[in-house]
Amino acid sequence: MSKSNEHAFTHFGPGPYVFEKVTTNVSIPAPGVPGKPGGSCDHCSTGIMYEFWFHTANDVRFKVGCDCALKADPQSQRHAKQWRSNHVKEQRRARNEAKRKQRRARNEAKRKQRQEVWAAEGKAKAEALLLLDTELAEALEYDHRIIADIKAKIFQWGTISDKQRELVLKLASQVSKPAKVYNALPSDVEAKRVRIKGKVLALKYKPCQYRGEVLKMLVEFEHGHGLLCSKVWGSVPDEATTVYLEQQDEDIEAGRETRTIFEFMQGRVIAFDARVKVSGDDSTFGFFSRPTKFDAFAGE
Ligand SMILES: [Zn+2]
Repeated sequence: MSKSNEHAFTHFGPGPYVFEKVTTNVSIPAPGVPGKPGGSCDHCSTGIMYEFWFHTANDVRFKVGCDCALKADPQSQRHAKQWRSNHVKEQRRARNEAKRKQRRARNEAKRKQRQEVWAAEGKAKAEALLLLDTELAEALEYDHRIIADIKAKIFQWGTISDKQRELVLKLASQVSKPAKVYNALPSDVEAKRVRIKGKVLALKYKPCQYRGEVLKMLVEFEHGHGLLCSKVWGSVPDEATTVYLEQQDEDIEAGRETRTIFEFMQGRVIAFDARVKVSGDDSTFGFFSRPTKFDAFAGE
């Protein structure tokens, strides 16, 4: 056996030289300063960062750098080469990942900046808008969930649609009005037929012994020249149905969307003559019967 064919590692002991693992030995002089090889090759004494560990047949352990690892026997060489190629791949992957992270962070920062610019613009526009539209500005001050939502959007986008503006004004006027107090019906209300004028608050179909179903309505009764209010309940007069059907014909002729009788009646200010009976348990509540002289346009 010539000297050149002798195994490079014989001075460590008898072979085979079994590859165990790779460890990293880096000394870092100061935080932020790249590390330097912290160990040296037991074979050639070069400074090494990656220590390829082997052991001999008589269990002597030694470490060499990646170049010297290639001088080991074929199986160990394969291990070392495999490790090196994996390591290169791993490093490339880590570099790419770091770049991706940087790119993402940059994009995120740009997006945030754009958003801040938009928010600032939206706020400035909203402030200008509300300086000119004091009615809306006042309405936005009312404590209401929907108003608060719309207000937040105005300050975000700097605009408001006509529909939303209308809604805010309507809600604000509702919130600003105190809850209506219903008063006792006048003591002489049962004595004779009375003229009832007021707003239709609600409608409902009720089963009826003779007519199958009959439409009933709850009406605010503004007695005392609209100052005092009670509620009365009774059948919707046939005249109301006639007026409704006439209105429906008009709607169809004019190409308007038709309404249900509920939509037509709900909230409408009407007037009619009727007899009223005061409820036994609630003096603010009455039952009207036999309505006549119906006026569907008492509020117009
Ligand atoms: Zn070496």
